[in-house]
Amino acid sequence: MVREEYWQKVRSAKEGQKLSPEDILFLLSTAEREEEEVLFGAADQVRKDCVGDEVHLRGIVEFSNCCAQNCLYCGLRRDNHALVRYRMSLVEIVAAAKNARPQGLGTVVLQSGEDPWFTRERVIDLIRAIKEDTNLAITLSVGERPYADYLAWKKAGADRYLLKHETHSPTLFRGLRPGRELGERLQALRWLRELGYEVGSGNIVGLPGQTDEDLARDIQLFIQYDFDMIGIGPFIVHPQTPLAWAANGQLNRTLKVLAITRIITRDTNLPATTAAGVLDQNGRRRALSAGANVVMPDITPPNYRQHYQIYPGKARLTLDCQEFRNWGRAQEKEAGIEWSCELEGAETVCMDIRNAFLELAGVRIR
Ligand code: SF4
Repeated sequence: MVREEYWQKVRSAKEGQKLSPEDILFLLSTAEREEEEVLFGAADQVRKDCVGDEVHLRGIVEFSNCCAQNCLYCGLRRDNHALVRYRMSLVEIVAAAKNARPQGLGTVVLQSGEDPWFTRERVIDLIRAIKEDTNLAITLSVGERPYADYLAWKKAGADRYLLKHETHSPTLFRGLRPGRELGERLQALRWLRELGYEVGSGNIVGLPGQTDEDLARDIQLFIQYDFDMIGIGPFIVHPQTPLAWAANGQLNRTLKVLAITRIITRDTNLPATTAAGVLDQNGRRRALSAGANVVMPDITPPNYRQHYQIYPGKARLTLDCQEFRNWGRAQEKEAGIEWSCELEGAETVCMDIRNAFLELAGVRIR
């Protein structure tokens, strides 16, 4: 049953009225399935009104799984000696990035652990080599670095930077990311904005000890920092980490954070994360019907892709562009959905792919 107060709060938020911290917490803390559906439906409408029906693609190259940090929740953590480590060569990274354009991608995300081998100069070489031969937008996602690195990479041509804040709770942050402070992370995000990057951030939902109040503070941070992209994914237990004992985050809780974020931020790019698909086979499709509008195909060469194990099950679910295309064509046959869009030359996937996702998820197509 949907409470009148819940219904009204969602409706006024959908119409653009500001939500107080208490309102955010109120929307977030419902456990009523029908209220959740009201929230998801409102987010889907705001997504349609503010960013349209296209699903934007961001090709991702995971070029190194080496990391100097030791975050308790992450399979790439320094002390996970069971992980097969790799570093792609500069030539391999540039080749993978150049492969993005023929696959219909306009943006490449260069992602790695915090790997000191990739010095300021090496990353500059990468950016210049990719920019020289393509007009791809370059997003860097290589962790916390000194201000001088951010500055040099911006000057070299980097367009965007992705740095998830992970959690806005200083206590949780300190406990889960040994030796690091939330304040430093937020400072880095402010520097990136000052330097003219388009800035992406995001959080993890369902971390051990995380409360709805913590998640409400994450959403307030999204409002305060006005990010261009926000990744909201569930916590997934990695057996080779100190959090092997914990429980996975919940998909519906993740979708509630996503939906409220869509309703509040209006036109921010919100990915349907691979982690949501690991939790539930319909996870990414459900995210696309609860406010998400971005999918990130993995264009890392397959021999490396399998080792980028932030959490288990990730490699199994990453789709490269060819797989997207094949999947869409299969839907055309099976579900009778018109497949009118080729990815070549298009930065976005057309409505048909979005609808195919939703059709598969059993969501009614408008
Ligand atoms: S979350 Fe990032 S910084 Fe932390 S261990 Fe994983 S890759 Fe390294």
